[in-house]
Order: sequence, then structure tokens, then C-alpha cells
Amino acid sequence: MSENRGKFTLEAAEAYLAEEPDMQVEKLSNRLFTISDGQCRTIFIAGESGVIAFDTFGTPGRARAYKKAIEATLPGQTINAIVYSHDHLDHAGFAADLAPDAEIIADELCAKVIKCREADGQVQPTRVLAGERNEINVDGVDLVLLNPGPTHGSGNMAAYFAEEGVLFSSDTILANAKYGFMPDYHFANFVKYMRGFLELSWDRFVPGRYEMTNRAGFERGIEFVDDIMTACQQAFANFVPIWLYDPMKGFVGQQLGEKYGDLEGFDGHIGQMSIRIVHHYLMGGWGLEDTPEPAVLLEDKVSL
Ligand SMILES: [Zn+2]
Repeated sequence: MSENRGKFTLEAAEAYLAEEPDMQVEKLSNRLFTISDGQCRTIFIAGESGVIAFDTFGTPGRARAYKKAIEATLPGQTINAIVYSHDHLDHAGFAADLAPDAEIIADELCAKVIKCREADGQVQPTRVLAGERNEINVDGVDLVLLNPGPTHGSGNMAAYFAEEGVLFSSDTILANAKYGFMPDYHFANFVKYMRGFLELSWDRFVPGRYEMTNRAGFERGIEFVDDIMTACQQAFANFVPIWLYDPMKGFVGQQLGEKYGDLEGFDGHIGQMSIRIVHHYLMGGWGLEDTPEPAVLLEDKVSL
């Protein structure tokens, strides 16, 4: 296989890894842009001497398409820095194909997972941040990077642009109901941490997938997750066989259909979302991330 393969072992995966889709770029300000491959979404920003790209998209082909789209948007500029929003390969797996020599900025937990994962094409961060809020200057751009605690994936950092009134937080809240599988979401504190972002002043939200939304859409997205969490607990109280897809889809769909049935993807995804979230209550969570004091994770047991 000539492509970086992430964690794939099958030669046949090459066709998937190599595809370069059309990318849609949208200008948010004179310096800030959002870009989507039709499924995942991220941002990039022009610095004084080059570009700061958030994430890489999820295959070598998509990383190359990302690079070409940046070059078309900001001709003559090179990508000098990459910020990983979190560790997942579908967002941050292919810096080797985007800009292998760039400075790579990530939260320390994200960096530790990447080091231990050893995925082909996922470049190790060169600048590691810790704590809930980091204000750093990269290539003349003041970045505010926020990690209130485990929300999704490892070391998930949101980015706040006060000047633009924009918040970017990957794979957390969506403007629709189209991400039902919800692996590696940490529900113990998820709603609390998401509501914390509302203390900041912004009116445009850039999610890690699909379309952008505004503050009201973000608040509704939080409420949607909160209400699924409630409905999943009610499933236990009603002795729904929570490990079965159809009964869970039926029960939670019935509970929430009136309030959220208009959300794109509701019918197709509410069953999966319910199966995932109900297991948070069945099992108690997804490891140490889902404990009341997840900061224990930051104990320095993996050295970089
Ligand atoms: Zn993710």
C-alpha cells in the first residue's frame, strides 16, 4: 500500500484512503475559513507568514484535498502549523499528507494517545498544551484553545475566536441528529462542559461535522443530548430491553419525536444514539474519562 494507512491492514483499503473529494470552503472573516468534505468539517486561519490548519481530515486523499483547497483559497501560503482538535484518525490522522513539517499543536492527552497508537500517517504533536484554557500566539494569530475536560475522544480542544464570534468544537454538538454511533463520547460531564462554552461570547458554531449553526442551534443540540440521556434512563424504568435496537429506537423515538423530529437525521439515528447512551448508564461510562473527577487522567503516566 503506497498510502499512509492509519490503522488499516487491508490492501483493499487503498481505494478509500486515496480518494480526493471536492472540498467546500466558506469564508468566516478576512482570515478565518471553514472547510468541509461533505461529512467532516474544520477550520483554517491565515497567519502572518503561513496558514494554521485545524485537523487534517480522515484519509491521505482528504488531507491532500484539504491542502489543495487551502492553496486555492490563500495562494502562495504554506501550512506552518496544525492544531489537532482531538486524537481521532477521521479528523487528525494524516498530517503526514497535509504538512509533514508543520508545527503540530495538541492537548497532552491527545498527544499521549497518538504516541501509543502509532497510526501510519498520524504525526506526533511537537507542541503540547495542558490545562483548560491556553492562549497562545502562533504565527501572529492569538489562539484561545479550550479543553474543559473529557467530552469526545482524548484531549479535545475547542477553539474560540472572539474577534469573529466563532466557536469550533469538533465531534461534540451538531446542528442535526446525523451522528448516531457516538463512540468515545464521555457523557458523565459532557452536557456540563458544553454548557460552559455558552459563557463565552459567540454567535456562530462550527461543529466537526456537517453544517454550521448559531448559538440557539448549539443550545438546542445540548438540550437534545440531555433529553436523550433522560429518555435512556426512563427506558430502564420502563423495562425496555435496552440492548435491542428496535425497542430502544421505538421507546426513545416516541419520547422525543415531537420535540426533535424535525432535526435532520432524527429517524435514522435516534436508535443508535439511544443504544450508545443507554450503555453509559448500564456500564457506568467509558473508563476514567467518565468519572466525576476526570482530571486524574492527567497524571503523568505516559512520558512524551
Ligand atoms: Zn472524533
